[in-house]
Amino acid sequence: MGTDTSGYRGRFAPSPSGPLHEGSLLAAMASYLDARAHHGKWLLRIEDIDTPRVVEGADAFIMQQLQALGMHWDEPPVWQSQRIPLYEDAFARLQVGGYVYGCACTRRTLGNDPYPGTCRQGLPEGRQARSWRLRVPEGVEHFVDRLQGPQSQNVAHEVGDFILRRADGLWAYQFVVVVDDGLQGITHIVRGADLLASTARQRLLARLLGYKPPDVMHVPLLCDAQGRKLSKQNHAPAFDLARPVQTLQRAWKTLGFELFPAENIETFWQRALPMWAACQHGDSQ
Ligand code: GLU
Repeated sequence: MGTDTSGYRGRFAPSPSGPLHEGSLLAAMASYLDARAHHGKWLLRIEDIDTPRVVEGADAFIMQQLQALGMHWDEPPVWQSQRIPLYEDAFARLQVGGYVYGCACTRRTLGNDPYPGTCRQGLPEGRQARSWRLRVPEGVEHFVDRLQGPQSQNVAHEVGDFILRRADGLWAYQFVVVVDDGLQGITHIVRGADLLASTARQRLLARLLGYKPPDVMHVPLLCDAQGRKLSKQNHAPAFDLARPVQTLQRAWKTLGFELFPAENIETFWQRALPMWAACQHGDSQ
């Protein structure tokens, strides 16, 4: 649809730990509509870096679900598990800049965030690095979320030096997501509101790596009857692929739009797209 004159590059970045459910579909739908409304590109990135959580075949199933709902990506998908050398390169650049240090702390000896900086000035005698952390610069990170409004976070104080490479040797989500968004030239991120709290970290890391932080929009999460976020861990069921139009309509309504009749998925997207675009213009600043 349309030519890419806008320079907009968006993405959907599911973790293949199970099929998409009605909650993750909201992020897929919103990111897809936003890319199309901007005449931009919509990329698919399979975030399979956290290998213990990867479920075999979930990536193929997610791709089938997206296709069945008429969400087609514009470039070949990428798998994080195949991009390890790129993460090593980016990590080396941060190391050269003096932004990385080894940490010997174990989760048992630490509470939750913020990290108190125990290993910042060097490892305790006789201890070896288990994980690698970013030396977070002082300062407050300000940004405007297109849906949630102005945000600010003092990452050094509220989160502390966060992990880039985990004690099990795996690259941390916060790090690889920034490297990938940077290398793929992503200009706009549309995703679930659970990641709003990660955005300040990702923005400052992007700048340290020389990337312009993308614009962000965080869409609402779906919760179950107990008020828990729908997730694969809570065994949220995959949505109904036998009735794709109804599935799309339910997600559309949850995103806050009025329902309209659609005979098939093509007519659904044809009508949804201008409505999404109009709504974005309505609240643009
Ligand atoms: N892979 C993450 C997830 O499925 C999303 C990452 C992102 O959109 O930044 O929750």
